[in-house]
Amino acid sequence: MAQNNPIFLALDLDSADRALELAKSCSPYVGGFKVGPRLGLKYGEDFIARLSELGQVFVDFKFYDIPNTMLSSLRASFAAGASYATIHAQCGLETLKQIRELEQELGSVRPFTVLAVTVLTSYSKSNRPSLWRELSITDQVRLLVEDVKESGLHGVVCSAQEVSKLKEQFPEGFFVTPGIRKPDDAGGDQKRIMGPKEAVDAGSDLLVVGRPIVDAQDPVAAAKAYYETLFGGAE
Ligand code: C5P
Repeated sequence: MAQNNPIFLALDLDSADRALELAKSCSPYVGGFKVGPRLGLKYGEDFIARLSELGQVFVDFKFYDIPNTMLSSLRASFAAGASYATIHAQCGLETLKQIRELEQELGSVRPFTVLAVTVLTSYSKSNRPSLWRELSITDQVRLLVEDVKESGLHGVVCSAQEVSKLKEQFPEGFFVTPGIRKPDDAGGDQKRIMGPKEAVDAGSDLLVVGRPIVDAQDPVAAAKAYYETLFGGAE
């Protein structure tokens, strides 16, 4: 596994064996692995623990609930072996502050970063919930990031298209960007997308890449191609 490799492979598939095999074969080219409900619900803590032996694990369940439930869900993610876990920034400042306290407590045991999702990268101006339409996506993300910043948290999930502006607003922020595509990749349901090199140049700290690798005919070659986009030919 390359040191400081910002590419995290989203293991969006249904079989734990296949996911572990893919994680192992792609590990020279990625910095870690993202697990969502698809695998996490089916195989749970044991699976996350096995995956964490291969690299850093990012548990992506996007918690959004009452504070007590969010805090216990984050504790459970940490206990399973997560180095990163996602929440929705929309939970509000008071809850974000409690989450920051927990992040510090858990972070004293081993590195653990909570990532606050702003506006999903599958949303565009026209397909957002109607409730949100009075604000532009840019303003929505900016306001959510303001809450994250004020809470003391650093992790933000946003579109790479938004990162350079958000870095100005929140220079200490740790920006995680899904919706990463090379020019020859299919976009799928992602709307606000960007290339890997462009995303890093814009200030992304961690890139989430799923289908362009997982669904490729040769996933290892696809992971390698992403790696080489950032690091050139040498491993
Ligand atoms: O396959 P693709 O590269 O689009 O995968 C992106 C991954 O990142 C998915 O697992 C998706 O759930 C996740 N994600 C996202 N947008 C966010 C937060 C997470 O696409 N804002």
